[in-house]
Amino acid sequence: MSTIKHNWTREEILAIYNKPLMELLYEAATVHRENHDPNLVQVSTLLSIKTGGCPEDCGYCPQAARYHTDIEGNDLMSVQQVKAQALQAKSGGCSRVCMGASWRNVKDGEDFDQVLEMVRTINKLDMEVCCTLGMITENQAKRLAEAGLYAYNHNLDTSEEYYKEVISTRGYEDRIQTIENVRKTNITVCSGGIIGMGEAVEDRAGMLVSLSTFNPHPESVPINALVPVEGTPMEEQQVVEIWEMIRMVATARIVMPETQVRLSAGRTEMSQEGQAMCFFAGANSIFAGNKLLTTPNPDVDEDMKMFETLGLVPSKPFINIMKKPETVEAEDSQYKDLGEKPRWTRPEHTIERNEEAKAKGKATAE
Ligand code: SF4
Repeated sequence: MSTIKHNWTREEILAIYNKPLMELLYEAATVHRENHDPNLVQVSTLLSIKTGGCPEDCGYCPQAARYHTDIEGNDLMSVQQVKAQALQAKSGGCSRVCMGASWRNVKDGEDFDQVLEMVRTINKLDMEVCCTLGMITENQAKRLAEAGLYAYNHNLDTSEEYYKEVISTRGYEDRIQTIENVRKTNITVCSGGIIGMGEAVEDRAGMLVSLSTFNPHPESVPINALVPVEGTPMEEQQVVEIWEMIRMVATARIVMPETQVRLSAGRTEMSQEGQAMCFFAGANSIFAGNKLLTTPNPDVDEDMKMFETLGLVPSKPFINIMKKPETVEAEDSQYKDLGEKPRWTRPEHTIERNEEAKAKGKATAE
C-alpha cells in the first residue's frame, strides 16, 4: 500500500505534475491499483435542487445572479421530485445523488428542513447522499449527519493565492471553516477544484497542497475542467487540454492514494480515449446525466456504452470508507434549529473581470 502523506509541498507536487507523461501515468496507475479496484467506477448524479439567483460572484458560475446568462432558475424542488429523479438515477447505475443549491450559505428554516427531508428520503433508497449547499455551521453539519448525509461537497476551487482572482464575495478561510465543520461529524468530505480558469500550474499544485495537507484527506476530490459559459467573467477562457486533465488526475491520485478522484465537469469536451486515460491515471468516479447543475454532460447511456467498451463497472453504494449512515427522523432529532447568523467573511476587494461581466449583464438586461 502507498504511504499516506499529509505534508506535501508545492515543489514536490509540481515535480510530480511535470514528470514525463509516461512515467507519471505509470506511477499514478500503480498507486491506483494498490488502493482501488481499477475496473470499478463510482457513478454519481448531480441534481440542481435550487438553481440560479446566487448572491456570490464566482467567476466561472452561470448561477451568480449578477451575470447575465441563459440559465433558467428554479425554486427549491419538492421532496417528491427529488425522490423521482433519484430513483431514475439509481436504475441507470448511479450509486450517489449529489444535491446542489445555489446558496451562499445554509440558513436554518423551512428550506433547510426540506433539504434534510430529501436527505432522509434518498438515504432510505440505499443510495449515498451528498449535498453542496454553500457554507454551513457545525450545528447544520450535525443536522445533516443525523438525517443520513454521506458526503458534503465544498470545493476549494483553486489555490489560496489565486482564489481572490476568481471570487470576491468570500474568502478561502470560509471554505476551510466549512470543511472543518463537516469534519466534526461522520459525513465524508468531497472537495476539489476547477482547472482552466487562467491559473498557473503552480496554483493547481497549490490547490493539491491544500487538499492533501488535510488530515484525513478528503474522501473525494472532484477535478473539473472549466466549461466557459457566455455571460460569465470566464466566457473567453480556452478549453482545457486533455493532457492537463490527465496530469491533474494523475497527480491527485499520487498525493491522495485512498481518495476517490472524480472526473467532473468538462467531460463533453473529452474524447472517450481521453477519458480512458484519466481512468487509467486514477479517476474512479464520474457524474452521469445530461446536465451538471447547469452545464452539459454526456448522457448516462453514452457513459454506460463507454464503460462496456472499457470493461468498467459502476460500483455499488457504501463500498468505500463509510457504511450506510443511520437516518434519524425529524421528530426524533436531538439538534435544534439555532437560527444562527454566522459571520462569514466578505473580503474587501473586487475582481475587474467579474465587475465587467456584471456591468455587461446589467446593460443587456436593460
Ligand atoms: S458556484 Fe455556488 S456559490 Fe458560486 S455563484 Fe455559483 S451557485 Fe453561487
